Amino acid sequence: MGDVESLKKMLKTHSDFPKKASGIVFLDIFPIFRDPIAAETLITHFMHHLVAETVPQSLSKKVDVVVGLDARGFILAPILALRLGAAFVPVRKKGKLPGECVTATYEKEYGSVFYQDEFEMQADAIRPGQTIIIVDDLIATGGSAKAAGQLAAKLGGKVLEYLFIIELSYLKGSQMLDAPVYSMVKED
Ligand code: 5GP
Repeated sequence: MGDVESLKKMLKTHSDFPKKASGIVFLDIFPIFRDPIAAETLITHFMHHLVAETVPQSLSKKVDVVVGLDARGFILAPILALRLGAAFVPVRKKGKLPGECVTATYEKEYGSVFYQDEFEMQADAIRPGQTIIIVDDLIATGGSAKAAGQLAAKLGGKVLEYLFIIELSYLKGSQMLDAPVYSMVKED
């Protein structure tokens, strides 16, 4: 699809970010959002996937809640939620959300260093039986998306799909997840 190719070309790579001399090549999605036509194309691409019955592999199921991950998931998820007529629910790093929360631990990697972090979701954000998609800009190891899925499950939600702009396929993060994964760009 030509549109996907042109969006892919807009992704910028930054070597050794966020940690110097780490060997990490960071893919930046923000150039897409600097261009309103490109941003609209991105959202339309996801909407086709989510609701169009004519599109192969379309989800075409009713989505009650779009969960967005801290922090770049907060850009994409509320837009998709509005278009779907669904609720938006944030998953944030521990200590950032008010009220009663559920918590899940995940492992983060910076270069070769691994450490644990915690994600939270407000306890009244999802009702039992609600259908959910979990959205972030990028899946690497899958640890953060898995933790978000665990939070949704703790509240009785049913995760229909995990959705990303970019999937680093070689890290096999999708294998960590308990529902299908849709990513616009796969980096092998
Ligand atoms: P994971 O938990 O799958 O290992 O890492 C995914 C999380 O790290 C996502 O929240 C994502 O925003 C962030 N992340 C890791 N590497 C990159 C990258 O190269 N580009 C961007 N935009 N985000 C990244």
